[in-house]
Amino acid sequence: MRVTWSGGHLSFRLDPEDEIIGRAADEHPVKLATNSCSIGGVPDDAHPDLFAVAAWTIVAPWTRRRIRFDRSVSPEVAAALHDGWGIEAGPVGAQPRPAGPTLAISYSGGADSVAAATIYPDAPFVHFRRVPHRRVPNRWPHYRSDVLAKLAATTGREVATVTSDLEFTLAEPRPGYPEHHAVAAGALLLADQLSLGGLAFGYELGSRWLGGGRYLHRYTPDNPMWAPHGRWGRLFAAAGVHIVLPVGGVSEAVTMRLALNSGLRDHVRWCLRGTDGPCGTCGKCLYKELIRAAVERRPLNTSITADRPVARKWLKKPPYGGQEMIEYGLARIPGIEHTLFAKALDHFDATEESTSWLDHCYPRAIDEIPAQWRDEAAAFMKTQVGLMTEDEVRRVETWGS
Ligand SMILES: [Zn+2]
Repeated sequence: MRVTWSGGHLSFRLDPEDEIIGRAADEHPVKLATNSCSIGGVPDDAHPDLFAVAAWTIVAPWTRRRIRFDRSVSPEVAAALHDGWGIEAGPVGAQPRPAGPTLAISYSGGADSVAAATIYPDAPFVHFRRVPHRRVPNRWPHYRSDVLAKLAATTGREVATVTSDLEFTLAEPRPGYPEHHAVAAGALLLADQLSLGGLAFGYELGSRWLGGGRYLHRYTPDNPMWAPHGRWGRLFAAAGVHIVLPVGGVSEAVTMRLALNSGLRDHVRWCLRGTDGPCGTCGKCLYKELIRAAVERRPLNTSITADRPVARKWLKKPPYGGQEMIEYGLARIPGIEHTLFAKALDHFDATEESTSWLDHCYPRAIDEIPAQWRDEAAAFMKTQVGLMTEDEVRRVETWGS
């Protein structure tokens, strides 16, 4: 792979051994659509390691053996690419970038990132906004990134919005981040300007410790995507931007509660389709409604019926994505047996007691936050959430086994 940046415009060329159908960190096959993309709202003089890591979040799935950047990277970044992916990276020759003092929040506006923002009330936001690609037709036009950007811009927080068409480099299954980390590409290029030493993501307990729900379904302390000692964690750290997961120890029930009790309540939006509010008809809306109803201890409020395609997966046998939250909902929602989740009840014996761990914070998640930002998160979790008991910790560590 050869990559060239011109300002915020990235173009890349595949080597003979590279592949059009690549694999992302979660093993999902991803097909390349086009070999260029742009990131707007970023400076063109960032440290070369930042350009390199930003490029890697985009081209990683399609790169097999080596990557040649258009400017020298530090030995640290080259080593992280080699140790993490077996990739020969060069040219090497830059001084490493020292981590700055500031932590920014990668802010989507969903409940998880709002919860992360609540823990650090002074942290600036970086918001990623999808824009159309010049050459790739948009086959997913109902994604209202304009609505999400507007919500992010009016929180009262300092916010840098980066615009990008990088999701259109991916043709199949649909436009999206080639790697989950590509959402940070703009934040990386802003790292010098914002003096960043850390970037906080809203990945919660399920994504960090329980295998992300979708492709794995077991306790994953060595999660290659989000563990600080995983390959992505080490690569970001090599560029002086530590991955920080402020809500990595709590479930989506807790992030939902924190978001709805926060001053950003009116800015929370997990649905990518709605304009004046969540659409109420997509799979995400249904899943989040389950969590919200459980948190608010009220009946499920949805017009989605069991015959709708978005309901289909709940009629099948588990495992389900986000299964821990399904169990949590089944145990808490009054009248759940009369909803489209009735079938799922056959497979679980969930009770309030067996799911109480999902109301508390897994302590190891606090331990892995870098020292300069740890105390604030620890104090927040102790006072606002509560730490897991030993029994609850065991629930996490035996998940899926
Ligand atoms: Zn929706």
